[in-house]
Amino acid sequence: MIGENLAQVRLHIDLSRQKRHVDMRQDFVKLIAVTKNHDVDAMRTAIDAGVESVGENRVQEAQSKLSVLDRSVEWHLIGHLQTNKAKYAVKMFDLIHSVDSVKLADELNKEAAKINKLQDILLQINVAEEESKYGLKIIELTGAAEHVVSSCPNLRLCGLMTIAPFFDDAEQTRPIFRTLYKEFKALQARNLPTADIQWLSMGMTHDYQIAIEEGANIVRVGTGIFGPRQY
Ligand SMILES: *Cc1c(COP(=O)(O)O)cnc(C)c1O
Repeated sequence: MIGENLAQVRLHIDLSRQKRHVDMRQDFVKLIAVTKNHDVDAMRTAIDAGVESVGENRVQEAQSKLSVLDRSVEWHLIGHLQTNKAKYAVKMFDLIHSVDSVKLADELNKEAAKINKLQDILLQINVAEEESKYGLKIIELTGAAEHVVSSCPNLRLCGLMTIAPFFDDAEQTRPIFRTLYKEFKALQARNLPTADIQWLSMGMTHDYQIAIEEGANIVRVGTGIFGPRQY
């Protein structure tokens, strides 16, 4: 089941890439298997079927899985992080997608410095400015990016992430993704020192195909691989 789902998702990723502007069709799309609320057995099955990156939204859950998962993969933090957990996050995650405040960036920088790590991060942007979601507003993006490159030597800014509002018709997410892609290209064009703006993380099970068409090069898919989560 997981293997078949994964094959379907990979097929859809390829089909969506073919719908991109011709210049972008060959560009790589990284698939993150979102494993929150799924057990280690399911994770092993997915990894054996070719998954190379997993995404978790809670530090504690990731910690307990990391301690027993006998497979080597990239670990991505995709959920909101409280500043008091930054010290655990820097020890575990290859890429932290959910940096949603300057205060959190400072805390991550401090904890990464303690373990001598250059921590890769994305800034999470709340494009639609939904009350229910974390993330910086677009107008705060430039200031936050400048803060990271000038004051956080142990962080490497690698790009942007967003969670689109939920619409029954996923097509309605398109303007959100298009807006963030423009911001991503503008950030790239600024050639900020120490930054390496290469990842645009957008799209989940419901809307990843649209996100890819609009320029996402990381998609975060849980339900589409593992089926519904039991909470
Ligand atoms: C849970 C989650 C996902 C995956 O959601 P699905 O709908 O199961 O694909 C992606 N991104 C974030 C930030 C999440 O919290």
